[in-house]
Amino acid sequence: MKSYLKQYIDGAWVESEGGTVYQVIDPSTEQPCTEITLGTAADVDKAVAAARSAFESWSQTSVQERLDVLGRIMTEYKARMPDLAKAMSQEMGAPMALASMAQAPTGLAHFSATAKALAAFEFSEVIGKATVVHEPLGVVAMITPWNWPLNQICAKVAPALAAGDTMILKPSEEAPSCAVILAEIMDAAGVPAGVFNLVNGDGPGVGAALCSHRDVDMVSFTGSTRAGIAVALAAAPTVKRVHQELGGKAANLVLEGSDLAAVLPPTVAGVLANSGQSCIAPTRLLVHASQVAEATAIVKSMMEQTTVGDPAEMGQHIGPVVNKAQFDKIQGLIQSAIDEGATLVTGGVGRPDGRNAGFYIQPTLFTDVRPDMRIAQEETFGPVATITSYQDQDEGIRIANATEYGLSATISGDPTAAAKVAPRLRAGLVTINSWSPDIGAPFGGYKQSGNGRENGRYGLTDFMEVKTITGLPGDVREASRRKPGPD
Ligand code: NAD
Repeated sequence: MKSYLKQYIDGAWVESEGGTVYQVIDPSTEQPCTEITLGTAADVDKAVAAARSAFESWSQTSVQERLDVLGRIMTEYKARMPDLAKAMSQEMGAPMALASMAQAPTGLAHFSATAKALAAFEFSEVIGKATVVHEPLGVVAMITPWNWPLNQICAKVAPALAAGDTMILKPSEEAPSCAVILAEIMDAAGVPAGVFNLVNGDGPGVGAALCSHRDVDMVSFTGSTRAGIAVALAAAPTVKRVHQELGGKAANLVLEGSDLAAVLPPTVAGVLANSGQSCIAPTRLLVHASQVAEATAIVKSMMEQTTVGDPAEMGQHIGPVVNKAQFDKIQGLIQSAIDEGATLVTGGVGRPDGRNAGFYIQPTLFTDVRPDMRIAQEETFGPVATITSYQDQDEGIRIANATEYGLSATISGDPTAAAKVAPRLRAGLVTINSWSPDIGAPFGGYKQSGNGRENGRYGLTDFMEVKTITGLPGDVREASRRKPGPD
């Protein structure tokens, strides 16, 4: 079992003030695989003090210095890629093929997309008689989930570093090892002490202490809408900037008359990848009434051809879901769909055949799903798809928009027709005939899926303050018009 009982604060691994050891369970064996110390508010105080003190010099670094640091991080990251993939696979069940070929590389892609955005960023502009400058924001607290653990961490750490901010990361207690390895990467890359700090712990202990801390300027949170609301409430008395990347319930609006055999496989793949544990998984298929039978046959076959297996082995299979709580929640939602009258096409309650241990879920498909059923409204986070029929495009769009979430939506069908539908979908991301975003482009939710945007130039901007200065001498203003960044 891996044992990570120290916190990374001010450039050193230090004893935690917390005495409680938390065991992470390997979801494929149900046995402990990693232990961490649950930090306390006292750990948070130390980490925030270190970040505050490091901010003075880090915020003054030039663009070139920050680019150099990002470059060294990428070099170290590449060398640790196999360790990162293995760690997340063991703790949250991503099969090694996904962990090593998608999850771990995606974290690296955030660093390279951010470096590119930083090199091109315009730190100042002239508006009327004013000069407008983007400045480092301060100390940023980052709270992240387990489902794409590195992706979410790197989507915050990279822009914060590039912006000149200092930071305290609290990763999910369910998948903490990637963050520990990332701290080792930061150390090896020579990130100055105090710029990046890691405090392991749970939400009520470390997370809440970060949110309410007077000396934290921003909380960047990714996780459930439930916890995101708690974060915003805890941060409100100190008027922090709060970035929320929250839950989703993406529709897959299949346009009438589409070639289903061509358009469904690449979009339904998003329901199966990572065992459905992606916030943008397009689980709600909305299909024209005339094509429901054909769509059902295609998706049924995809579900039945998907094998469930050991995440540590390479292959095309899917792994278990992260933990018992998620397993029970998904079983409950499957049962609720049956109870509410949906038609179970394949899969269902209980583990797949031959699996007596591990949090494995049967790939499951329902049809005759009404938009108001729990399975069509609540985030499932499992390999479970639903088919709901619509009579005309307006109805399809109405159903697509009829949840409290607005993170992403998928359209399957002719891209020219999809281009006309995309503006009518109330979601921060619309994917056409695929389910994957572009790492350099903004990512974030409408409605109860969040506030703010991550990734690339938009992410960088959100991790900075904006200052307006009037009355500058003419030559200084002219110089700022051309200034690509601090030097
Ligand atoms: P979660 O909300 O349970 O936990 C996320 C993080 O918040 C963890 O680090 C947890 O310890 C912490 N936390 C919990 N309660 C807290 C509190 N009161 N104060 C401060 N911190 C607290 O979410 P999860 O189960 O780890 O992740 C799955 C969720 O994340 C899903 O809802 C998914 O849609 C969402 N998600 C969203 C995005 C996005 O970009 N919008 C990406 C991935 C996952």
